[in-house]
This record gives sequence, C-alpha cells and structure tokens, in this order.
Amino acid sequence: MKNEKRLAAIVLAAGKGKRMGSDLPKQYLKLLGKPVLWYALKAFEDSFVDEVILVTAEEEIGYCQREIVERYDLKKVTKIVAGGKERYHSVANGLEAADCDYVFIHDGARPLLDEEMLSRLFSEVRQHGTAIAAMPAKDTVKIADDGGFAISTPDRSHVWQMQTPQVFSYQPIKEAYEKLLASEEELIQKGISVTDDAMVMETFGTLPVKLVTGSYRNIKITTPEDLKIAEAFLNAPSEK
Ligand code: C5P
Repeated sequence: MKNEKRLAAIVLAAGKGKRMGSDLPKQYLKLLGKPVLWYALKAFEDSFVDEVILVTAEEEIGYCQREIVERYDLKKVTKIVAGGKERYHSVANGLEAADCDYVFIHDGARPLLDEEMLSRLFSEVRQHGTAIAAMPAKDTVKIADDGGFAISTPDRSHVWQMQTPQVFSYQPIKEAYEKLLASEEELIQKGISVTDDAMVMETFGTLPVKLVTGSYRNIKITTPEDLKIAEAFLNAPSEK
C-alpha cells in the first residue's frame, strides 16, 4: 500500500500484569518458540507502517533491545521508550516519542495481528480520523454492582468488545492524551480507570470513535489458557 503520510505503531509491553507462574511478564513468554511480543512487532515490521516505537518497563529496555529487536533483526523498531505506572502513561510516553500522521496503538500482549486487519483500520482512519479494532459481543453482558448483583443488561446488538490496534490521526489523540494527563487527579478521585485509547478520545477528544471489525483470533494473552489458544490459532490456517 502506498502512503504519502507517515505511519507509526506504538507497541505496549510495559506493565507487569499477572506473571502466569513465571518470572517473566506474559509478553516475553514463549509462544511456539518466540516471545509473545515478537509476533506483534513482526506483523508491523512486515506491514506498510513506517516505524515502530516499543514501550517497555525501564529495566527491560536492554533486554528488549538485545533479545527481541537485535536477535530477530526488527529494523522498523526505531525507539524503545520507558512506560509508566498505568497503561495510559505508557501510551502517553509512546505518543511523545512518535513523529507521524497516523498512529496504531497496540497491546504487545496481542500476537495475532494480520495485514488485512491493519489495512482495514488504515482505510477507515483515513476517512474518520479514528479506527478501533473491535468485535461484536458473543455473550450477553451485565452491568453489576460492587456486590456482584446484576443491575442491567445492555442490548447485545450494541455491545462490542474492544481490541487493539486502536488507530488515530496523530494530533487529535496526542491532544486528547494531554488533556487526560492534565485531569488525572480528578479521574483518580472519581475512581475512573482509563482502560483504552478510544475512551481517551471519547472523554477528552474531538473526534467520534469509529469501531472497525477486528478478528476473533486477535486475543490478548492474559492467562495460561490464552497461550494455548494462541498456539492453536497459529497452527491453524485462518478461516476467511
Ligand atoms: O494488563 P493489560 O493486559 O491490560 O495490558 C494491556 C497492554 O498494556 C499490555 O500489552 C501491557 O504490556 C501494556 N501496559 C503498559 N503499561 C502499563 C500497563 C500495561 O504498556 N503500565
């Protein structure tokens, strides 16, 4: 795909998350012999994206440089920057390091990216300034109270599960993140947690958030079962 615009990917691999029985954070665990994080970096390396900014814990920058970027000869990773306490701090640091027209923000814990999805997202972001990989919910979703009792049932035909990449025109998402950081204290006081980039655009940004079909294969590695599922997907040809 030919682009006159500069495209960057921010791949997030900071944050400790659950250790899944190993000393290594889940994004460095092996999946069919390679680190989970390698898969997303390789998908961007082989794509039309121009550069990749990897965000990792400060103490893991050297490890990522040697054991992932150099070892697998990933030429598009131009910067490895330190993340922060919360995911949104890590994204803000990545945005600070980026110099582009469009940015693909992606969880390094999602290894099953494919070029078709990236192309779909790019085509939509050029029209709307936002394009978020998401899938319609298959299960009924409940809103519950703190005690675990159901309060309401949103109409499932309007419920989507968010994935990444979440893709944006650079300047609008950069400005939305700047506003978020300026209001951080207030959010903390209100107990609001910021869990994705779309939410930052919805709350602090100027553009409507466009949901774009991702893929049911595009899972996030969170628990040991997820590694098994990802293995099975990697071993099975994709169903079109
Ligand atoms: O913990 P969770 O699965 O929600 O993390 C989603 C993604 O955000 C992961 O790829 C993780 O590495 C990243 N993250 C980060 N900085 C944090 C917390 C999470 O880069 N402080």
